[in-house]
Amino acid sequence: MTDFNWCHGPECHKKHTVDRVRGVKGSKVLRTRKIKATQWNRHSQWEYFCSNHCQNDFWNKHILDIVAIAPRTECQETPINDPVRTKHSNPYHNWYDTEITVDETRQS
Ligand SMILES: [Zn+2]
Repeated sequence: MTDFNWCHGPECHKKHTVDRVRGVKGSKVLRTRKIKATQWNRHSQWEYFCSNHCQNDFWNKHILDIVAIAPRTECQETPINDPVRTKHSNPYHNWYDTEITVDETRQS
């Protein structure tokens, strides 16, 4: 079992950062980043992506395949109590808060 993954970002090896430079003089390359498995990234996207940018690149390239894993063909709803709007004020301005709470009696 390996203790690392290569970043799954399809453009990772094209990003111009010095930490991606590998190889001997005259034969340099930009290489996909290696991601070490740690207790902090295990079973999360950060075990497979070195950055938000690489994750976004992957999503944009594979979006149709990704949503096909768990298609959403209809909306979902969470039952809530009637929202309560409260006015607040201080000597300078007024503002409103709207409290939204889940109606636990209608939870399935
Ligand atoms: Zn990457």
